[in-house]
Amino acid sequence: MSFGSEKVNSLPPYLFSVFQKKKKQLQAEGVDVIDLGIGAPDLPTPPFIVNRLVEEVQKPENHRYSNYAGCQEYREAVAQFYNRNYDVDLDPDTEILTLVGSKEGIAHLISAVINPGEAVLIPDPGYPVYKSAVHLAGGESIYLPLDEEQGYKPNFDRISRLDVKKAKLMFLNYPSNPTSATVHLNTFMEAITFAKKHELAVVHDSAYGLVTFDGYKAPSILQAPGAKDLAVEFGSLSKSFNMTGWRIGYVVGNKEMIKALSVVKSNIDTSQFLPIQKAAAEALSSNLVSVDENNNVYKKRMMNMLEALKKMGLEVEEPKGTFFIWAPVPKGYRSEEFAEKMLEEAGVIVTPGSAFGPSGEGYFRISLSVDSERLKEAAARMVRLELGGRK
Ligand SMILES: *Cc1c(COP(=O)(O)O)cnc(C)c1O
Repeated sequence: MSFGSEKVNSLPPYLFSVFQKKKKQLQAEGVDVIDLGIGAPDLPTPPFIVNRLVEEVQKPENHRYSNYAGCQEYREAVAQFYNRNYDVDLDPDTEILTLVGSKEGIAHLISAVINPGEAVLIPDPGYPVYKSAVHLAGGESIYLPLDEEQGYKPNFDRISRLDVKKAKLMFLNYPSNPTSATVHLNTFMEAITFAKKHELAVVHDSAYGLVTFDGYKAPSILQAPGAKDLAVEFGSLSKSFNMTGWRIGYVVGNKEMIKALSVVKSNIDTSQFLPIQKAAAEALSSNLVSVDENNNVYKKRMMNMLEALKKMGLEVEEPKGTFFIWAPVPKGYRSEEFAEKMLEEAGVIVTPGSAFGPSGEGYFRISLSVDSERLKEAAARMVRLELGGRK
């Protein structure tokens, strides 16, 4: 007997759990496993944010339900953040919604917009939640193939007419998890033009919008003219302010999509705990020095790891965003096979590219959100790995 629904039972298996099982086995045998598979910051939340939380949590008025849409102070902080950083004006009442982390918002938006049988274009390789959420909403996922030669930018001409016709929604994610690819505003402008022409809605996932290097500044899709007519952008404090466990994010942009999402959400949650929203407002209103400090740590770790990859014969361009390195597997290996070898022979967990979609085959992802010394140790072990004999 099974109590899971058909949709739940037919979800694709979560590849990460296979590696986690092996990790436990090896650890039980006394192997010192270094996990570079984790996609969450290791660094602590900056103290000025924690302090605001502590202050707000003492106030009894903050122990009540929040508004469904999230508190005014937080939504206004998001509006000011967009105005300052992107020169985009947003109405806090209709164009901004507080989220209990952006993941729930992404999943709920799909069920708020998609009817059973309708299709969603999702990046391949891409964040696995898009596909699962489309599946749970009864929709159909269509891969938007992204490849290295094109810098992992979408090639709209390659999408078949039939797929374009079936699709109602298109997901984009830059800086990208897992490829670390970044874009300039013109890519978003092309996306908006394409979506307008084919009457698609666009969702941009900007989870790594502030995790950037070397003076590169990631654009917001709302900077593209006309974007608000058909696009929303998801933002998260998880990665930029080391706040994964706090569960706080936002969605901004098109009023109708935000309205639909708020209807779904008001039947499921009652927004986030007020002290968390207020501490998050403090974070977004800050001068972002803490973000720069984090990015500097990631950059140092990145340079160290790139050096190790080079010694392994794996050439990778320096990423301009995210805390991931997306590298080709050595010749002769498949992604999963190489990840297994890394775990068994070096005690290092990396994520096989195939976990992010069929176009991820031939690559693996390294997360840099691991203690710097441990990461150096992992790099040293990787360089010692015996790769020979394969072709
Ligand atoms: C981490 C991540 C998210 C989700 O972040 P939340 O903690 O739910 O705000 C969304 N998209 C991508 C691409 C991510 O890597």
